[in-house]
Amino acid sequence: MRLCRFAEGRLGLVDGDRVLDVTAVLDDLPSYRYPLPTCDVMVAELARLRPRIEAMAAKAESIPLRGLTLRSPVANPGKIIAAPVNYQTHLQEVRTDPTLHHNNPSHQVTIHSAGLFLKATSSLAGAGDGIVICQPDRRTDHEVELACVIGRTVPRGSDPGGLAAIAGYAIGLDITIRGSEDRSLRKSPDSYSVLGPWLVTADELPDPGNLDLALAVNGEERQRANTRQLILGVADLIALASRFYTLQPGDIIYTGTPEGVGPIVAGDRITASISGIGSMEVQVRGH
Ligand code: MN
Repeated sequence: MRLCRFAEGRLGLVDGDRVLDVTAVLDDLPSYRYPLPTCDVMVAELARLRPRIEAMAAKAESIPLRGLTLRSPVANPGKIIAAPVNYQTHLQEVRTDPTLHHNNPSHQVTIHSAGLFLKATSSLAGAGDGIVICQPDRRTDHEVELACVIGRTVPRGSDPGGLAAIAGYAIGLDITIRGSEDRSLRKSPDSYSVLGPWLVTADELPDPGNLDLALAVNGEERQRANTRQLILGVADLIALASRFYTLQPGDIIYTGTPEGVGPIVAGDRITASISGIGSMEVQVRGH
């Protein structure tokens, strides 16, 4: 199942080049009053909603995918976890390029000692939202990454059970200002965590450890790799994260970027793709 969010709060089931509008299923979500849950309530209820979505799709309005403004398929993640330097090839380019590492010692080590970091949830954007450059006088880079979305609560310190905790996958863009400041500052401006184009449920992608990923800017390829080259695979990352955090439905894990990161500027058009998920075009804007 491929679920997208589009326009203003609409939910769609992607069917080829069409989208079936299943927004009405959101009426089945529990109603909440303050304080609101700290997880994404749609992802939390997805297993229960799924048969309703499939039944509704049979008679849903069908809309051409082209032209829709795609939002982040997860609206309200409790946290966005990200892996630094998780491809050997990216580590090598960072080590040899001072414009990437800025003598920041945390850029010199592998994920085994660098651990994980968090991006602000307010940085989340969909493919149709685009990226708004925050600091136009500074170098801002693209990073294409496989993103996985947690589907159930994994209490901190418990066994996450490999891939069993995953609701689905999407393409992630971890947009990054280069510089000496902490990652959480440089990678969290509004729109610097792109997620899209939709959520592919885990049953459609049984092996996230063998996916081709690629990114082009204005049609020129910049990054191409396969997730088998990850230093820590998806299950390893979930295990690492769950040693520190209780994982909740809707939490997103950006798994790290391969080599080929490079600058983007306003006016650029990014095309990112991952096999088994699809591709998305993301516009880079100045404001
Ligand atoms: Mn990254």
